[in-house]
Amino acid sequence: MGIVVENVSKRFGSFIAVNQVSLEVKSGSLVALLGPSGSGKSTLLRLIAGLESPDEGKILLTGKDATYQSVQDRNIGFVFQHYALFKHMTVRQNISFGLDIRKVPKARRKDRVEELLELVQLQGLGDRYPSQLSGGQRQRVALARALAVQPQVLLLDEPFGALDAKVRKDLRAWLRRLHDEVHVTTVFVTHDQEEAMEVSDEIVVMNQGKVEQVGTPADIYDNPASAFVMSFIGPVN
Ligand code: ADP
Ligand code: MG
Repeated sequence: MGIVVENVSKRFGSFIAVNQVSLEVKSGSLVALLGPSGSGKSTLLRLIAGLESPDEGKILLTGKDATYQSVQDRNIGFVFQHYALFKHMTVRQNISFGLDIRKVPKARRKDRVEELLELVQLQGLGDRYPSQLSGGQRQRVALARALAVQPQVLLLDEPFGALDAKVRKDLRAWLRRLHDEVHVTTVFVTHDQEEAMEVSDEIVVMNQGKVEQVGTPADIYDNPASAFVMSFIGPVN
């Protein structure tokens, strides 16, 4: 069981950012929330994370009602566009952070950090500081840190948004391979249709706080459900 969002709405004042959204993310799948800027993608992700609470509706995580569960109790890993690595900590210390606060025994922590360095292909860079890494390497450290505690759900909000086109393309393919290896239920926010098409098992197309269509990349490309989806998806370059 993955994530179930049932009829969830979120208002900011009189403005409805997320409007009666329902969707299901199957366990172990990678789903993209795709839509233009302002369509409610980040708000929906924050609702799933527990960083915002809904005005109505329900959120189930692995079958349990999590609507009123605290962020800490949800066992979720996050990565945002503007990576927030700890600047004064090395790569190893950054990755180890969640294990340290959970007081995982030292020997296990060490093994796990080495395993994660290998997973995100940063062997040999463990002693560097964030300032000594490229943007793409920093985002891989952020992913390793998020995965360290074996979250049941991984939430990525435009994780490659700040990087240049070439690096984004490489990281896309890399994320897909990583997901095939780790199989953690992942929700990935992007406004880039090509990125969504290439990376995800399913795409949720959002517009003005509502879900326009849910389907595999092929479904959505071949059978767009509305004029909006058709124009937003457009031809893939
Ligand atoms: P997206 O991630 O798709 O660009 P967001 O979920 O960030 O969209 O925002 C959806 C809409 O909700 C936007 O119009 C945004 O200005 C508004 N919004 C988001 N967060 C807040 C907030 N904390 N207060 C007021 N308005 C907000
Ligand atoms: Mg956003």
